[in-house]
Amino acid sequence: QVKHSGKNHYMYFQQEMIEVLKEKVEIERRLTEALAEDGFRLVYQPQVESASGNIVGFEALLRLKGIAILPDRFIPVAEETGQIIPIGRWVAGETIRQMASWRDQGLPLKPVAINLSSKQLSDEGLHGYLQQKLLEKKIPAEYLEVEITESVLLEESADTTTFLNRLREIGIRIALDDFGTGYSSLIYLTYLPIQKIKLDKTLSDRFLKDESVEVMNSIITLGHSLHMEITAEGVEELEQYRKLKKSGCDFMQGYLFSRPLPAEEVTPIYNSRLISDNASPAGASQ
Ligand code: C2E
Ligand code: MG
Ligand code: MG
Ligand code: MG
Repeated sequence: QVKHSGKNHYMYFQQEMIEVLKEKVEIERRLTEALAEDGFRLVYQPQVESASGNIVGFEALLRLKGIAILPDRFIPVAEETGQIIPIGRWVAGETIRQMASWRDQGLPLKPVAINLSSKQLSDEGLHGYLQQKLLEKKIPAEYLEVEITESVLLEESADTTTFLNRLREIGIRIALDDFGTGYSSLIYLTYLPIQKIKLDKTLSDRFLKDESVEVMNSIITLGHSLHMEITAEGVEELEQYRKLKKSGCDFMQGYLFSRPLPAEEVTPIYNSRLISDNASPAGASQ
């Protein structure tokens, strides 16, 4: 009987592997389709200045039109297949186009961040592509921000440094995303050309529960002493906003202020204040 159940277990395992593979193939197909048929869209999450509650910038986040698959599922597939290269260029081009569109509607330019995953650091032509798009739309490079995660830094340090330095030479700003999740090495902060640290949601959450208070305060102090700005991510509660503000966190982003929104929903609130210290969140959260 043992042999029998062992075989069943094996078959079950094999079945599961087939399912995972099928899902990957399906996502790959959807991505190919989206690339060919304008099937991607961007949503923009406002970033607020802690002191005023005003919107001071946005993060562009990728979505598939008409399908509820989120980036945490399709970005890894896109990385594996190499589709992340053309997808990443589309994200950059579309973001710059949208920034120009807001400006052309009479709104002041505000920084917009895009995310880069590790494979995109091997996109040799990305610098030239970004520079050309910025020039074409007359957007000063300082308004484009690039977010890279710590895990990217762990992979290939010499190449990564070169890549980031080239972005900085153009004038593009660099933010270290999801800080505090992985192997947060403070050493990166001293030799990489980083202008902003984005504290991960898990850290902000623990801070709310009075855990990680010393860690949080140390990161903020260290960041500031290295002339970096600090943004807290995933802020969902008023109490969290108050505590982070008190600790000297410069900017915040999270559902408390607003969810990521399609461009046409950003336009009417572009210059809004999303929170004031003595009131509940106002405006764009939905
Ligand atoms: P990320 O860059 O750390 O983005 C923040 C994620 O947290 C977003 O998820 C955002 O919708 C979500 N979020 C924002 N505020 C809150 C909050 O208050 N509570 C909670 N629970 N979540 C919040 P999203 O859009 O699903 O993206 C997930 C990840 O996928 C991103 O993490 C980023 O690493 C990656 N990603 C998204 N768009 C792109 C892209 O265009 N290119 C690349 N390479 N990666 C992308
Ligand atoms: Mg990000
Ligand atoms: Mg993040
Ligand atoms: Mg993330």
